[in-house]
Amino acid sequence: KESKRRDYAKPWLQPAHPVIAAAMGRGAGVGMDGRDGAHHVVTEADRSKFMYHVYGERMDGPDADLITMIERDCIENNPKVQWSDIAELDEAKRLLEEAVVLPIHMPDFFQGIRRPWRGVLLFGPPGTGKTLLAKAVATECGTTFFNISASTLASKYRGDSEKLIRILFEMARFYAPTTIFFDEIDGIAGKRGDPSEHEASRRVKSELLIQMDGVSSTPAPSDGSRSDEKPKIVMVLAATNRPWDLDEALRRRLEKRIYIPLPSATGRELLFKIYLKDVKVDDAVKWDELVKLTNGYSGADVASVCRDAALMGMRTRVQAARREGYTPEQMRQLQAECTNLPIRHEDFLEALKRCHKSVGEEDMQKFAQWMKDYGSK
Ligand code: ADP
Repeated sequence: KESKRRDYAKPWLQPAHPVIAAAMGRGAGVGMDGRDGAHHVVTEADRSKFMYHVYGERMDGPDADLITMIERDCIENNPKVQWSDIAELDEAKRLLEEAVVLPIHMPDFFQGIRRPWRGVLLFGPPGTGKTLLAKAVATECGTTFFNISASTLASKYRGDSEKLIRILFEMARFYAPTTIFFDEIDGIAGKRGDPSEHEASRRVKSELLIQMDGVSSTPAPSDGSRSDEKPKIVMVLAATNRPWDLDEALRRRLEKRIYIPLPSATGRELLFKIYLKDVKVDDAVKWDELVKLTNGYSGADVASVCRDAALMGMRTRVQAARREGYTPEQMRQLQAECTNLPIRHEDFLEALKRCHKSVGEEDMQKFAQWMKDYGSK
């Protein structure tokens, strides 16, 4: 008991979030990790230990290249996304806190009937912050974050995908506590029995199911290769814009299914503030009108509007300068001038003409129905 308690005094395990702080009976506001802002980083030394764990003395086996590739492509060392960078989605944040963050900080409590969910699915229209949430979870937990998307799997690991999944989970168990995030999970594990389904993708899917079953029951290696005792938790997070295409066996293993909806009016107002915090905006901008006009826009759509509006003043000026020809000195002046230009209401209206909403009404109804059938509250 005593040694467990001492574990919590380790900097990487100290609570950063008030909810965790309260749950652990500590004051809020304790930093998580002085080194790198709350994130456990895989170092060269860690990697050698993993190679040693897999191959023993020789340190280079048949899959050594694959391991190196996973480390290069899939481990994100420091996503640095805080809960506060994400507008709204308070319910999702609360659920994730309970499903992922707390079990890592209070492993003794989350046992037996309270065991953590095997996996968590974030579903909803594209561009609503699912990836951001996964990154925030990794930041808040200080876990190593593996980020795998269906498109990376398809483009880079063709043929090796099944092996990749196995090694990935083995690495995740070794580096625990870890979060594995599968983006576009429907592309990795779509519905079974589709006649167009290839043998290879069927094998990838089976491997994923086997590994997910192993996560909760197989203890992490305790061969003394890692001296610090971190809780051996591997959290599986997945995101999809097409939950109805998910393989049913996988859906069952993703026990907690959280709906990430389009932002509300309040959310969109907050998004404008988040995106425009570093640029000058004219006082006469009518936020109410912009919030109304962006009804049905996703977070990513609102981001495009802001980006486009922020470039508008520069565009006309550069056009004029181009007509007249310009010297480097003139360009420098132009840059200074453009940087000081506040974004005007008309710029937003112009941007709105170019950036349309990306999610249709029909899809929204499909999400609502899927939430009713399979979602978690
Ligand atoms: P997806 O749901 O498709 O995974 P992402 O999390 O990748 O979407 O979001 C794409 C971009 O949209 C983000 O980089 C961010 O700029 C913006 N965004 C979407 N939703 C939010 C949100 N709730 N808060 C802040 N930014 C958001």
